[in-house]
Amino acid sequence: MNWPADYHMHTPLCRHAKGEPVEYAAHAVALGLTEIGFSDHSPMRQDNYDEWRMNFDKLAEYVEKVNQARRDFPNLTIKLALEVDYLPGQEPWIRELAALYDWDYFIGSVHYVSDSWAIDNPDKLSEWKQRDPFEVWSVYFDWLTRAAESRLFEIIGHADLPKKFGIYPKQNCTPLFVRFLEAAARSGVAIELNTAGLRKDCREIYPSPKFVRLANEHGVPITFGSDAHAPGEVGLNFTEAISLAKNCGYRDCCRFTRRLREMVPI
Ligand SMILES: [Zn+2]
Ligand SMILES: [Zn+2]
Repeated sequence: MNWPADYHMHTPLCRHAKGEPVEYAAHAVALGLTEIGFSDHSPMRQDNYDEWRMNFDKLAEYVEKVNQARRDFPNLTIKLALEVDYLPGQEPWIRELAALYDWDYFIGSVHYVSDSWAIDNPDKLSEWKQRDPFEVWSVYFDWLTRAAESRLFEIIGHADLPKKFGIYPKQNCTPLFVRFLEAAARSGVAIELNTAGLRKDCREIYPSPKFVRLANEHGVPITFGSDAHAPGEVGLNFTEAISLAKNCGYRDCCRFTRRLREMVPI
C-alpha cells in the first residue's frame, strides 16, 4: 500500500497532545508511511490567547523537535508546518510567522467564529445552545472563504468543522460550501481529508462526502491528515479517507516542499 502523507499531526507543545515528534515518526514508519508533516497549533501574537496552542517562546523548540525526528528517521520525509488559526485581522501576524522558518506548508483553520468562541471546544459546548446553527455555520464559512482568499495557506483544515458535535442547521448549506470552494479553486489552495471527524460525535471524516464531491467538481486538490494528538493516531482511518477521495473522483493528492506544491497519485 502506497499511503498518502499524513500532513496533520500535533505535539505536546500545544498543551493538549501527547507524545514526542520522534514517537509520531516511529509510528509512521511502523505503518509504512513514507512522508508525514507536523502542523501544530501556531502561536497567536498574544500569548495564552487560549490554552490549546503553543506560546511564541516554544516555536524554536518545536522546530528543533521536528528536526530531531528528521535526524532520527532519515528515510522518512518529515515536513515542517503549522496549523494556523485564521481570524480576520490576523493576516499580518501570519505573514510574520511565515517569515521565521523554512515552513513546508501552512494549514489555515477556522476554529473561532468570534474573538472568544472556538466552536470545536468541548468546554464551550453551551455556546451552541445559545446560537442559531445556521448563523454559526454562515460565519464559519464566511471566515473560511476569507482564509482561502488570503493566499496565506497551502491547505484549509477540516473544512466542515462545525459538524463536530453533530449540530446541523435545518437550512441548505450547499451555497456556503460552493462559495468557499470557488474561492479555494481561484486561490489554488487545497483542502484536507481529516479523519479526526470519525473520532468525534459527527462520526464522519471532515469534510462530508457531498462536500468532497463538490470540491472535486470545482478542481480543488486534497491532502490527507489524521489530526493526530497522540502517536497512535498517525495515519488513523486513512483507508476510509482514500476510499472517500477515490469515490469522489480524486486520483491524486498534494505534497508540499518549502510551500511549493507537487501532485502525486493516490
Ligand atoms: Zn488540537
Ligand atoms: Zn484544527
